[in-house]
Amino acid sequence: MVRRRGTLGGVSEATSRGLVLVVEDERSIADLVKLYLTRDGYGVHVETDGAGGLAAARRLRPVACVLDIGLPGMDGTEVCRRLRESGDWTPVIFLTARDDEVDRVVGLELGADDYVTKPFSPRELVARIKAVLRRTSGAPVAAESPRSVGVVTLDPGRRRVHANGVEVALTSTEFDLLAHLMQRPGRVFTREELLGSVWGYAAHAGTRTVDVHVAQVRGKLGDASSLARDVIRTVRGVGYTADEVSP
Ligand code: CA
Repeated sequence: MVRRRGTLGGVSEATSRGLVLVVEDERSIADLVKLYLTRDGYGVHVETDGAGGLAAARRLRPVACVLDIGLPGMDGTEVCRRLRESGDWTPVIFLTARDDEVDRVVGLELGADDYVTKPFSPRELVARIKAVLRRTSGAPVAAESPRSVGVVTLDPGRRRVHANGVEVALTSTEFDLLAHLMQRPGRVFTREELLGSVWGYAAHAGTRTVDVHVAQVRGKLGDASSLARDVIRTVRGVGYTADEVSP
């Protein structure tokens, strides 16, 4: 059992599953999240503002971050942006208060792995965290050999993606989504299938999550190579497929 000592302010008792950083200025929500995560065997460190959250993420190297968007000072999206900028791809799950915050998460291509909208069930949040951590552990695909679709090459073992030779930095969720689609080029996956296989939870979570992540992957592939953007094709009324781009 991995034991973390409580030498840093606010780090809770020993855990077997690793430390989750929760950045939330509403104390009642933070306490509730902490309670559920602790019960489930995670250590929890709580920060109540963005600057403190960013510093804690860098200092404590948590296994995952739960970031409220509306924070005093630096907001949650900025915290995430700065982490990604410094090459830190720790899984991030946003807490959003309103639909327009969801749009910001989506529109800014922040590299979030998931989000939940308030009011949320703490159980649901814990399930999402577990799902993200399952996906990011990378064990099931580690032994697989690299594969290509069109100009996009994906190496499951090293978890790296190249588009026309240019490396593309994807979040772990984005990587898993692309890897899943590229496993069987030309096969059409429904949004529900992708939710189940990539996110590891059932379709009640909402299929928009899939669309959001597909848009992010396309954007990043497109930035690397204009030919790469269209490797993920939308099949209207059905879902998505990874396919050769017709010249
Ligand atoms: Ca808040």
